[in-house]
Amino acid sequence: MESYYDKINKTIKTEDIEDVSEFYEAINRKNLTKKLSDDRPYVYFTMEVYDKGNGIKGGGGLGVLAADTRRVAETLEIPFICVTPFYRSEIHQSIVALDQRETIINVRPEDYGFEYLDDVEIFNRDMPPARLNIFQKILGSTRFLTMGESNFGELYAGDGSGDHRLYQEVSLGFGGYKALKMIGKKPSVIQLNETATIFAAVARLDELVKNGMNLYEAIVYVRKHTLYTNHTLVQAAESEFSYEQFTKIVFPNIESSALIRWISGLFRNDRLKLSTLTIELAEAKNGVSRLHARVADYRDINGDKVKFRAVTNGIDLKTWILPDILGLYLEKEIIDKFGLPTDNFKENIDKLDIEKIKELKKKGRIELNKVLKKRKNQYGKSVQIPENALVFDFKRRFVDYKRPWMPFEDTEKLRKILRDNNAYYILAGKVHQGDSRMRATLNSVLSKIESDDFLRERVHFIQDYDEELGRALAVGSDIAINVPIVGLEACGTSFMKDLGNLKLLISTADGGAADISPTSALEVSGINYEQELNAIYKQMEKACYIYNNDTLLQKQIKNQLVDYLPIVSGARMMKDYLQLIFGQK
Ligand SMILES: *Cc1c(COP(=O)(O)O)cnc(C)c1O
Repeated sequence: MESYYDKINKTIKTEDIEDVSEFYEAINRKNLTKKLSDDRPYVYFTMEVYDKGNGIKGGGGLGVLAADTRRVAETLEIPFICVTPFYRSEIHQSIVALDQRETIINVRPEDYGFEYLDDVEIFNRDMPPARLNIFQKILGSTRFLTMGESNFGELYAGDGSGDHRLYQEVSLGFGGYKALKMIGKKPSVIQLNETATIFAAVARLDELVKNGMNLYEAIVYVRKHTLYTNHTLVQAAESEFSYEQFTKIVFPNIESSALIRWISGLFRNDRLKLSTLTIELAEAKNGVSRLHARVADYRDINGDKVKFRAVTNGIDLKTWILPDILGLYLEKEIIDKFGLPTDNFKENIDKLDIEKIKELKKKGRIELNKVLKKRKNQYGKSVQIPENALVFDFKRRFVDYKRPWMPFEDTEKLRKILRDNNAYYILAGKVHQGDSRMRATLNSVLSKIESDDFLRERVHFIQDYDEELGRALAVGSDIAINVPIVGLEACGTSFMKDLGNLKLLISTADGGAADISPTSALEVSGINYEQELNAIYKQMEKACYIYNNDTLLQKQIKNQLVDYLPIVSGARMMKDYLQLIFGQK
């Protein structure tokens, strides 16, 4: 069966990009043709990818970003390899008696068009070597290179500083580097998507030393060719491991004794944070939004503050935006064939007309209902939203800082807003395994809804939040709610899916939403929790009011798009990364 991505890719009639040099020219970086080639590709290491069309299910935004980065590279014909584990078990959510349950489903790379290449070995002091099966899937100018074995476990299995996690990380870094050699590729640059991928840079360093380079020269070389992308705000939250764990799990994979000595010297009180090692081995470092790059507080081994550049995340427009809307952006020359905003995108957005926008939103609603038909709410029933109703949505991982419970603090107010405006509220999101506090919060939100005759009909928690549901809500709902505690969201990308699909956004000024200041979205702000809570209900009322007046609606949607289109564009993100990695400093 055709996946919905295949369908989208066929629907959009972008002119074909002749070859990658055309994109390099468009971003004024002609010289990249010499630096990036099929044999010397851009290599992206990540513990997580969220690309179910290709069989790999992630946990959240980090994986969505990785998948989108590869898709953008494919569209632009950039030679690109994504190195990542293929977890053979994935977690799904269901709701039973208003409580979250997790089920594990087994998957195999063979079932998703991956080709088996060979095995590589990962060494451990106390155990026989683990044999990782390397699988590959080529997609245009890009490919996935994956590793796994039957006991590899699922994504984020166990403790973040436990032996098994370290084994998974070592497998990605050392195993992935061996896999690159297996297919004869030498990275032009290595991008480390978070510090859990650092062993890729260590493996490269070890190889250079083995080939006769002096350790310090090799470090300089690796630093120049490695980019560290940080998504975590505080260094205290970074995982760390003991010297004993390194001796057992990491060092048996390193040949150079000089390198082992150098790494040993980075331990403090018998412990080493992977972020410390990463900071030493990557010259270019970035945060994933302007605010995040500014507030990320990291120290290097000498205690000096680390400077992060900002490259705000973007999304793959073809994946997340309704084909008809994307078609309109192309036709009206709001974006070009690369997916970059055109020189006069602002004027062209201003020419959009509200009737057309409303017609496109109706199509989006049909897509949403199609997906909802296959899905279940908290009572195991499938839901359909009437064409003339308004829909609010809150779709994000159920974690504390995202505050999914907030609109349910005052059910009286919520009821009134939904009733007065013929509105529905769709909620979706997974509680992280083992997060008992948020699990209880979800129970309590679902109980509040259960105990109210009106809310029971109008508020639907759709089970097993995933990218299919995320996309359906982005295209088919009207008003998105995004209220992370200011300062805690590194970037967030689901608000970009909403803005790209011409929705109204209610948001705190956090993550990528704060790249525009003041934001043109309906802002939730306040000096304390009560004020913020008040602001949420006020902005929900205001959004409904705007929806009742075409002039206001047109103005609000256009203002948001003018401000955020360059941020939303995944091609813009790729341009920024190429600039950061290969630009003159
Ligand atoms: C887009 C998306 C995300 C990213 O969401 P943020 O909360 O904005 O980081 C996470 N999970 C899924 C399934 C998504 O589609």
